[in-house]
Amino acid sequence: MAHSGDPFIKESMREFGETIFAEMSALAETTGAINLGQGFPDTDGPREIAELAISAIRDGHNQYPPGLGIERLRESITNHQSRFYDLDFDSKTEILVTAGATEAIAASLLAICEPNDEIITFEPYYDSYAASIALAGGIRRVVTLHTPDYSFSFDELEQSITKRTKAILLNSPHNPTGKVFTHEELTQIAELCVEYDLIAICDEVYEHLVFEGNHLPLIQYPEMRDRTIQISSAGKTFSFTGWKIGWVCAQPALLNTVRTAKQFLTYVNGAPFQHAIAEALLLPDEYFDNFLTDMVAKRDLLSRGLESVGLETFVPQGTYFVTADIKTLGYQDGKEFCLNLPESCGVVAVPNVVFYDNKDLGDTLIRFAFCKRVELLEEAVERLQTLESA
Ligand code: PMP
Ligand code: GLN
Repeated sequence: MAHSGDPFIKESMREFGETIFAEMSALAETTGAINLGQGFPDTDGPREIAELAISAIRDGHNQYPPGLGIERLRESITNHQSRFYDLDFDSKTEILVTAGATEAIAASLLAICEPNDEIITFEPYYDSYAASIALAGGIRRVVTLHTPDYSFSFDELEQSITKRTKAILLNSPHNPTGKVFTHEELTQIAELCVEYDLIAICDEVYEHLVFEGNHLPLIQYPEMRDRTIQISSAGKTFSFTGWKIGWVCAQPALLNTVRTAKQFLTYVNGAPFQHAIAEALLLPDEYFDNFLTDMVAKRDLLSRGLESVGLETFVPQGTYFVTADIKTLGYQDGKEFCLNLPESCGVVAVPNVVFYDNKDLGDTLIRFAFCKRVELLEEAVERLQTLESA
């Protein structure tokens, strides 16, 4: 992220400029390049779900919804949790609807962080994590996920825990790497949380984009039910990223903690969209299966395409992102490469370096989003074939 150069902003926020996603989408707009940068689908979710939002507006669901979210949506969230994970939540005391996962993460951090409390997360990390930790007055400590398989050192994770560590902020499936944390890794992370009395904040927005096996929520691991804030969102699962309907599932006291901060951020949001997502969560298995099958095909198309161009490609196990290494074509600087790519090839990607504290580890990595129409992905691959070695 660029230095903001803002003379008014507080010191802990100085390292944050415009988000890379906004910067790169603006570049796609001005150059007319194919936007494989920011992660949003180029086709909307189910028409019948969109119609429900329209009906909700027509039916007068246009004023503030209840603070926790509308009852029907909270019930659908608990239903979804038991249907997919066999997890049992009380819709009256353990579910909170938020303005996307972004607000849920920010509210969790704002609510639990004392000044200089440490939050551990894995790098590369989704950009809002660093900013939200800073806004909350916390300090981030990162543990690196190493290419090619994005494994990490368990010892390094344990050693990064100090007396000031408050929480581990975990994202699985993981953006930008596409890593899905294994049962063994989750078991070890859970054991550390218990041993050192840490809260786990789990960002699971890609829960329905696990390509092999099933999504494993950390909250279901031994002794994690009472110390985990489980977060998800409708944006990715139903291809309505602009609706910003997210949620938190946690035991009553922890849910209340998050709610205390959340109510002073947005208070509530998206009343008509809450009505629509309440029904989306109840869609038959066929919807979720087709969504996944479609995305696997797109993953394969783009991953093979990037390989054919001569880029080392780290095929993701989840999410809708694939990372490639430009080093294999002789390039060194991912940021510069991405700034030039619209002009040289008519394609936009995101430089992963912005998601790293250890910049040298991310310098040559770039991320492409494949949640786009097949024709567009094919066209992008064709354009990338014209890439020349440095
Ligand atoms: N977490 C991760 C890992 C993401 O990739 C995103 C982007 N959708 C978010 C959170 C934000 O989700 P939302 O749009 O629901 O706020
Ligand atoms: N989550 C999306 C991505 O990683 C972007 C969302 C945003 O722009 N904040 O590309």
